[in-house]
Amino acid sequence: MNADIEIKLPYPEDSFAPVLSREAVSLHVHGHHLGYLKKLAHLIKGTPFEHHPLEEIIAETRMSCEHCCVFNNAAQAWNHDFFWRSLGPVDKGGKPNGALLRKIERDYGSFQALKMHIASTAEKRFGSGWVWLAELNGRLGVFTTPNGETPAANPDFRPIVTIDLWEHAYYLDWHNHRSEYVNAVLDRLVDWNAASKRVKEE
Ligand code: ZN
Repeated sequence: MNADIEIKLPYPEDSFAPVLSREAVSLHVHGHHLGYLKKLAHLIKGTPFEHHPLEEIIAETRMSCEHCCVFNNAAQAWNHDFFWRSLGPVDKGGKPNGALLRKIERDYGSFQALKMHIASTAEKRFGSGWVWLAELNGRLGVFTTPNGETPAANPDFRPIVTIDLWEHAYYLDWHNHRSEYVNAVLDRLVDWNAASKRVKEE
């Protein structure tokens, strides 16, 4: 990992407007996300972690007080990468299909009910964190993680979608209205076609 690293989204930075402005996305990517990557690169330079992939660094430092700073920055880098891959250009994300749709109907009744459950779960997160839709032992689950915690490198979880609940993700465009931001992301930005491909057919 090197300190000159740059982040390039798979779509232009104005693709999320008007839900998220180009200015907010640019600051999020090049300020916050890149900040975690650069801090991590600095922390692991010259250590055994230097050439390990993010998932390995996360797995190796998760339970270690000594390496909590490495863990937090690696986990936040991974979470942000997954967040950008959870989203797509505004109103182009389609709807859940295939195995994901079947599991949503089985476990939540309907897509609308799932979105309401994700939004209400996000609302309960006090402070910073993430809300996740994930698969656990074949069933869907919605949960939040605090701060930089992550389900990455946890073999029991298969993350499907995440939404960033840190203030830096929404404050420029939505001020203190986090619920409205979450609902707008669920309705207009989540790439449900890509999410559907993350769920195993049974
Ligand atoms: Zn963020």
